[in-house]
Amino acid sequence: MKNREFLRLICKEISARNGLQIACTEEEERESTFTFRLRPHGIESNAGFSILTRVFWHIMEIRFEPENYAGNLLKSMGCKVEKLGAFLYFEEKLRKKGNIYLFFNDKEMDLGKPEMLEPDNFQKIRISYSETFPNHNLEKLNESLQLIIDRTDLFFSLILCLLPHQDFNDEESEEVSTQGLQGFEGGMLRKECTLYERSRLNRKACISAKGTRCEICGFDFGEFYGEVGKDYIEVHHIIPLSKMGGAFIIDPVKDLIPICSNCHAIIHRRTPTFSPEELKEILKEKKGTSFL
Ligand SMILES: [Zn+2]
Ligand SMILES: [Zn+2]
Repeated sequence: MKNREFLRLICKEISARNGLQIACTEEEERESTFTFRLRPHGIESNAGFSILTRVFWHIMEIRFEPENYAGNLLKSMGCKVEKLGAFLYFEEKLRKKGNIYLFFNDKEMDLGKPEMLEPDNFQKIRISYSETFPNHNLEKLNESLQLIIDRTDLFFSLILCLLPHQDFNDEESEEVSTQGLQGFEGGMLRKECTLYERSRLNRKACISAKGTRCEICGFDFGEFYGEVGKDYIEVHHIIPLSKMGGAFIIDPVKDLIPICSNCHAIIHRRTPTFSPEELKEILKEKKGTSFL
C-alpha cells in the first residue's frame, strides 16, 4: 500500500522531531481522503488522546481527540506561564497558515487573556486546525507530504505545550537538554502527570524559528560532521533564569539563541555570562588580528 509507506514516513519524522514514540495508524476511510491518527506510546489506554489528521482533496483538518476516560488528563491540562511562550509561538505559526480553533470548556480562547489557559479543571477541550491547499492532489500525496508533516507536527507541539509537565529545576537542567526532544516514559503521564518538560518545547520553538546554526560563530554541526551532526545544536538563555525572577514568560525567539558547544562553553566562562554581542565582538577582533 502506498499510504502505508507515507504513514511510516510521517510517524518516523514526527517521532524524531519530538523525541517521543508515537503510534501512527491509518483510519479506514472513503477513497478520497487520507486520514491518520497519532498517539503517544505509553499512555493508559482509553485515558489519553490522539491527533487525527484528515486530508481531503483541497483541505486538511487536524483535530485533538481526547479518549473516553481522559477526564483526569483534561483536568490537568493547561498552560502555565513558563510554557506560554512556546504555546503562543506554535499557535501563531499555525494561525498564519490556516484556521485554528481553540475552545476550553466551550469558551473560545482569547489570546489576549492567556491566563484562561491556567490549568483549571478543564472538562472539555476542543482544538482543531484546518487549511486549504488548492493545488493539492491526493493522487500525488508525496508532493504535499512535507506540508502535512509540518502542520501535524506544529499541531502536536501545541498540544504538548498544554500537557502536564515537570516544574523546571534550575538553569543547568534547562540548558542541558541539548539532545533534541526526549523524555517521555511509558506510564509517566498516569503516575506523575508529567509528560514533557517545558524547556524542550521552548527549545523546539527556538530552533524552529532560528535554525540550527550557531548564532555567534556560524558553526553548523550538520555541515561539519555530516549526517550524525544534523540538527544538533544547544540552546542558550540570553538572560539567566535566575535573573528573571519568579513567573515569567520565555519568548523562545527573543530570549533563546541556538549556539554551538564551543561558544556555549565560553559564553558561560564569565559570571555574569557574556552577552551574544560581546562574544561576537570578541570573535571579530580575534579574527581581525589573527591569521584567519
Ligand atoms: Zn559557535
Ligand atoms: Zn547557556
